[in-house]
Amino acid sequence: MVTATTQPNSKRASLHTLGCRLNQSETLLIQQRLQEEGYEIVPFGEEADFGIINTCTVTNLADSKCRQTIRQFVRRNPEAYTAVIDCYSQMGSKEIASIGGVDLIIGNQEKMSVVDFIGQEKNEAPVIIRDKISQDDFSISFFGDLPFNQRANLKIQDGCSFVCSFCIIPLARGASRSRDFNNLLDEARAKAAQGVREVVITGVNIGTYLTKEADLLRVLDGLNSIEGIDRIRISSIEPTTIPEALFMLMNDPDHALLPFFHIPLQSGSDLVLKEMRRRYSISEYLDFLHLAHRIVDDLYIGTDIMVGFPSESEDAFQETCRVFLENPFDFCHVFPFSERGGDSSGS
Ligand code: SF4
Repeated sequence: MVTATTQPNSKRASLHTLGCRLNQSETLLIQQRLQEEGYEIVPFGEEADFGIINTCTVTNLADSKCRQTIRQFVRRNPEAYTAVIDCYSQMGSKEIASIGGVDLIIGNQEKMSVVDFIGQEKNEAPVIIRDKISQDDFSISFFGDLPFNQRANLKIQDGCSFVCSFCIIPLARGASRSRDFNNLLDEARAKAAQGVREVVITGVNIGTYLTKEADLLRVLDGLNSIEGIDRIRISSIEPTTIPEALFMLMNDPDHALLPFFHIPLQSGSDLVLKEMRRRYSISEYLDFLHLAHRIVDDLYIGTDIMVGFPSESEDAFQETCRVFLENPFDFCHVFPFSERGGDSSGS
């Protein structure tokens, strides 16, 4: 049984994020909550009384980096109360517990409450909180002052229901769910009042955003109507979830939506895409890409490509290279396939 306690002032807290933009936005929200509670935030690596490590489990390498970071923190701060949260906590709590020196391991359902669970004393063995992830839409109850930055992430969605065969994220973060429309606009207004000029919309599968009040287009229009928000950027978005109406918004000089897409391709081979359980063929992807380029002025498109997927032959690899080089992409992140246990294998 964990007692929710709030620390007195003048304690030093240190946070570290591994993984994606969504993790970064969540760490920042937790940091703001700590500051509201009176904690001094010190850079990771300096001595601290509390440590919160926000983890990623997207590949084996990510797991290994998480363990390394936890060990480093515990070695440097043996007396600090140490909490490990998020995706690797959800999937690898036993491995984390075996590290020693960790006090609290919290999965994705309860991670935003980590500040409530930080106790004064270190535990002899870590407390593990790893409840089933809710499928309900959500709100975020705190979004205090930001460290000054003109660009800020804005979380609008979490989880994914697509279940690509290489990806552990639907297990680590649960099914797709969306943030309350008014709640996300409130945070965007608060950020604009603090000087933020660009919001980057983040989530796991943001094209599936849908609540009773709004879809993705309404979110974009709502953000566009906020005074001070000059630029809206969509982070990575799945190819089959992009409404063509976005093209018009990108071309509209009165709309803040930037002509920017990051659309994961993963492979240029239909056979491999099928094995990956992606929801498009290569010709469907390329038709969309060329349509977007025809309609949107000065469009900038990035993508992700995975190499070394088990069914990828040399021909399939060459086909992927050809698709990337012969089509209008502006940049590419290349990821190696990472073998994982179970059905989902990590991306
Ligand atoms: S790779 Fe597939 S399963 Fe994983 S988060 Fe993206 S769409 Fe969802």
